[in-house]
Amino acid sequence: MKDRPHSGTAFADASTIARPSDDDRFMRDAFQEGRLAAEHGDVQLGAASVRDGAVVARAGNRREVDADPTAHAEILAIREAARALGRWRLSDCALYVTVEPCAMCAGAANTEQVNYLQHLMQIADRCRTTPGCKLLFLGD
Ligand SMILES: [Zn+2]
Repeated sequence: MKDRPHSGTAFADASTIARPSDDDRFMRDAFQEGRLAAEHGDVQLGAASVRDGAVVARAGNRREVDADPTAHAEILAIREAARALGRWRLSDCALYVTVEPCAMCAGAANTEQVNYLQHLMQIADRCRTTPGCKLLFLGD
């Protein structure tokens, strides 16, 4: 744990929330939500909120189906995780998203103190430098 400079709130070490070896599994959940979003005419984007090695909430984009300009997958997954956990602070959660978040979603993740935000490009970059690493969730 380390202190968060401005709030004094203890900030969990990201390694206790999600291990890099879990990234494929949780990213697969996010991709599955994206596929479901595409089925109702939304952009194929998904997100999964993870805590203690388990998915707390997952969501796909719902802008079109809900006629809601803020219904991005990340916002919905953050909102549902907060509802499931009964609190707004999500500093012990990780958020997996299929693309780099937009400014609104990155701001929400920061405001809710989501500790560990992982998206495909970060994982792909790490995989490129890890011998034997394969991104198995694409196209399956
Ligand atoms: Zn967004």
